[in-house]
Order: sequence, then C-alpha cells, then structure tokens
Amino acid sequence: MAVRIDGKALAAKVKDQVREEAAQLPRRPGLAVILVGDDPASQVYVRGKEKDCAACGIESFEHRLPAETAQEDLLALVRELNADSAVDGILVQLPLPGHLNGEQVINAIVPDKDVDCFHPFNVGRMAIGEPVFLPCTPAGVLEMLREYDIPIRGKRCVVLGRSNIVGKPMAMLLTQRDGTVTICHSRTEDLAEITREADILVSAVGRTKFVTAEMVKDGAVVIDVAMNRDDHGKLCGDVDFAPVERKASYITPVPGGVGPMTRALLMRNILTAARNHQS
Ligand code: NAP
Repeated sequence: MAVRIDGKALAAKVKDQVREEAAQLPRRPGLAVILVGDDPASQVYVRGKEKDCAACGIESFEHRLPAETAQEDLLALVRELNADSAVDGILVQLPLPGHLNGEQVINAIVPDKDVDCFHPFNVGRMAIGEPVFLPCTPAGVLEMLREYDIPIRGKRCVVLGRSNIVGKPMAMLLTQRDGTVTICHSRTEDLAEITREADILVSAVGRTKFVTAEMVKDGAVVIDVAMNRDDHGKLCGDVDFAPVERKASYITPVPGGVGPMTRALLMRNILTAARNHQS
C-alpha cells in the first residue's frame, strides 16, 4: 500500500515559512490579481489566492474587470502594475474571455513580477537552469519529492501531458535533477508500455481514471496533477486511485495533493520577488 503524500500538510509548512520570512522584510510583499469577467471557477481560485496571501502576510490587490474589457485597457492596467512599487507579483487569472489575447497580456508583465513563471523570458531562464521563479505546479511536485526523500537522479520519469504550464516544465525540471524523462501526449503510441517503465509517473492529462493500475509498475511513485470532476461532480485526478494506491510506493491524493502545493509555491514566488525588489 502506497504512502499518501500529504500535500495539504506540506503546503501549510511552506506557507508558514513564507509568513516568517515575509515578516522580516522592510515592506510587506504585494500581489496584484487581475480577474476579467465572472467565471465562477476563476472567482473561487482568486478567493483562494487572496486567503493564502492573508495567511502569509502578503498584501493582495484585487482588480476585477468586466467581461467586455478591451485588450488595450487590460494592457494599460498591467503596465500600471508593472510600475507600482507596492506590487511584487502580478497574476492574471486564466482563462480570459475569448476576445482577449492572453499571450500578449502575459508577455506584458515585467518578468520580475511574473510569479506564475509564464513569461517567455522566465521560461527561457528555467530552460537554461538559471531560474528566477519556477512554475508553481511543477515546483510543488519537486518539493513533495524532496520532502519525502524520493530520489530523482537516475530514475525513469514519465510525464503524461505536454502543456506549457505543467507537462513541459515538469519534464524539464526532472531532467535538470538528473531524471531520465519521457514525455507522453495524445499521439503517444503504446502508452501503457511506457508508463509501466516509470519509477516516477506524473500525470497531467485531465481525464478521470485515465491512469489504471495496469499502467503502473509495482513500487512506482505516482503524482497526480489533474483536477477533474467525476460523474458526481466531485474533485478527482487522472489516477484510478484505489487500485493504483495498492501498487504504488507513494501517491498523491486529489484533493489534498498537488493542488495545495501549487498555491503554496505561488506564495513562495511572491516572497522571492519581494526580496529581489527590496534588496
Ligand atoms: P492541457 O493543456 O489540456 O494538457 C493536457 C495534456 O494531456 C496534453 O498535452 C494532451 O496531449 C495530453 N493528453 C490528452 N489526452 C491524452 C491521452 N489520451 N494520452 C496521453 N496524453 C493525453 O492541460 P494542463 O493545463 O496541462 O492541465 C492538466 C490537468 O492538470 C488538468 O486536469 C488541470 O486541471 C490540472 N492542473 C492542476 C493544477 C494543480 O494545481 N493541481 C495546475 C494546473 C493544471 P496533446 O498535447 O497531444 O493534446
């Protein structure tokens, strides 16, 4: 039976550290959050981030804009926040309404305030191993592996998914930590054959019960990044949890696994930005 990796407890520990370190800075770190429109899921995420900020002693500045906001107005707000010395991090809640160009908005954020690590400059720095920030979800996964003393060096790592925010950076960071990494996607052939070789299997596909016990090697470490809804509307991951838990050595639950760590690592990135701005 696998050890359940307790993302909630670990996240609380990270946030405690952030709070302690933030309190020692001359000025409270600040996060500006931009929310365009009234997507209910986005509102929940933004509320969660504001709660985390409050718990960590980070000031949060909320900017709610109507769904019909023009691209130029959104860019003007980003430029204003770029120049605001009370703001250390800028976060644009995605997805944006369809008429807006999210890429252009992300690229308008100055890289030293890009606490999500989505800006091409920060992605490039991460790729060459000189990161300022790490993207929060893959960074949260690394932190979990580290806290549970799970070695990456020399291990076969398989990442399911190749998105810019999860799959690609996850694979890059595992490679930098000396894992031997395979990235799989929707065009991968013989997927189960590949996943069965994994010592560390990270799934970020977005399909309920996608990873079955037959796809997992005995004793593998299984990290479930996904946040899906099952037929009853309950939050779940990609992994068919009960049978995979019996086979794996470590496993992350959903909820209570990668999700809270993602939020905690965002707080750490804001602290890093604040430190850089105040040093
Ligand atoms: P995404 O952009 O939709 O990417 C999904 C990836 O899965 C794509 O690369 C896709 O391949 C691949 N895929 C789809 N069907 C597949 C199949 N049959 N076999 C193998 N690969 C397949 O999603 P994302 O933004 O990376 O997010 C993935 C999941 O993680 C979602 O459930 C999301 O909600 C969750 N998430 C969680 C957190 C957190 O904090 N826990 C953070 C971010 C995202 P192609 O590239 O070929 O289409």
